[in-house]
Amino acid sequence: EPRVVSPQQAAEDSEASVRPLILDDFIGQRSVCDNLKVFIDAARARGEALDHVLFHGPPGLGKTTLAQIVARELGVGFRATSGPVIQRAGDLAALLTNLEPRDVLFIDEIHRLNPAIEEVLYPAMEDFQLDLIIGEGPAARSVRIDLPRFTLVGATTRSGLLTTPLRERFGIPCRMNFYLPEEMEAIVRRGAGVLGLAMTEDGAGEVARRSRGTPRVAGRLLRRVRDFATVAGRLPVDAQIADAALRRLEVDRMGLDAMDRRYLGRIASDYAGGPVGVETLAAALSESRDTLEEVVEPYLLQQGLLQRTPRGRMLSASGYRHLGLTPPREMPD
Ligand code: ATP
Repeated sequence: EPRVVSPQQAAEDSEASVRPLILDDFIGQRSVCDNLKVFIDAARARGEALDHVLFHGPPGLGKTTLAQIVARELGVGFRATSGPVIQRAGDLAALLTNLEPRDVLFIDEIHRLNPAIEEVLYPAMEDFQLDLIIGEGPAARSVRIDLPRFTLVGATTRSGLLTTPLRERFGIPCRMNFYLPEEMEAIVRRGAGVLGLAMTEDGAGEVARRSRGTPRVAGRLLRRVRDFATVAGRLPVDAQIADAALRRLEVDRMGLDAMDRRYLGRIASDYAGGPVGVETLAAALSESRDTLEEVVEPYLLQQGLLQRTPRGRMLSASGYRHLGLTPPREMPD
């Protein structure tokens, strides 16, 4: 029987079918997944809520996907919100009091929670109690509400952005890393399958190598490569057509995009390779410091093109070479 869905629902449904639904289908992040499996099995065996989990790592590595998988593997409900969305203590109270026992509450960008909300969250996480002030002035009184035992899953780009008391209330901290090349290949092949895009082995390899170790980037590049291949009438996508499409997108052989090269190029041309402070770079590039620190820099650091020193960012010798420049002085790679 045909089902009437709103466009919003339709988008969510197709997104849901793209995401892996169980741990066994989640590619990579082996140690995180292996540990989670043990903790999930133990919580299930005891019939208890899983301890609170914190995922930290660069955007697009699958933190949201993994949070949904955790709820599914636990066999419990999943509710999602994000730090900046929770404006008042009452918003958080409404979310928490609507949970069923052992449910997962996912808070994305948890480092952006307002400090007053954090104060309400602490006793909820620790003692499963809410202390709320009702009313104002002399008539104000405090009420205590018992909550079901639940699992808070938080996601943040860097755990250092969390206040110490909040960070310490997560029993299961999980660091997400950039994916390995063979993992990226598997993710690209899976993504191509979902899109119904025919690719050769080396075509998939080319997209995987140039996706910054990040599934979200791979998904975006796959869609664009599919567009080029469709218009050019070149299917299956082989390494040659993938390369041509990626060049048009200004994604280079290491997966760096125009913004990455602008960032590195600016340090080379205007700051003699550094060190230069991140605030200065943000102003020079008209980008926010957060974008540089959370989106741009992690991959450049991981690739060894950039170094972070106490006095600021420095281009490495391989950073110079990647830009086609000669390093100005004797430098280690
Ligand atoms: P984050 O919360 O870390 O920013 P996310 O969970 O929102 O990331 P997406 O941007 O949705 O990640 O990831 C893009 C797509 O890549 C998802 O739809 C998902 O299907 C797929 N994907 C992500 N990680 C994996 C993985 N490890 N294995 C298989 N597919 C993955």
